[in-house]
Amino acid sequence: MAECIFCSIGKRQTPAQMLFQDDLCFVIRDINPAAPIHLLVIPNQHVTSLANLKSDQESLVGHLFSTAHEMARREGVTDTGFRLVVNQGRNAGQHVDHLHLHVLGGKRLPALG
Ligand code: AMP
Ligand code: ZN
Repeated sequence: MAECIFCSIGKRQTPAQMLFQDDLCFVIRDINPAAPIHLLVIPNQHVTSLANLKSDQESLVGHLFSTAHEMARREGVTDTGFRLVVNQGRNAGQHVDHLHLHVLGGKRLPALG
């Protein structure tokens, strides 16, 4: 089975625009951006989705959110605003089965409903 692309990027085996990495997660620029700022905040460990998150990994989700906020600050979009998105499963259009948080900003984003 081919290795997960995000695991491979996290281990620096596949090149990507790596903006940040710590013990728990890393941040890359999305290869197919949907907004001027489109980052992905990704756990180092392979967690397939929220559905497979273990109870002792709740703090990991908090860390992903605080990292997303810090990266938005670095990208200069905290004042203008940004959106955090998790595509969970088929109906939401999840393509990569490794949990990740999209950080979108730099333009007026379409309303959700
Ligand atoms: P999702 O549809 O929520 O699973 O999002 C997966 C995202 O990963 C998409 O927005 C892709 O453009 C992005 N993506 C896939 N492969 C790469 C890669 N090698 N480097 C950066 N972003 C990627
Ligand atoms: Zn993975």
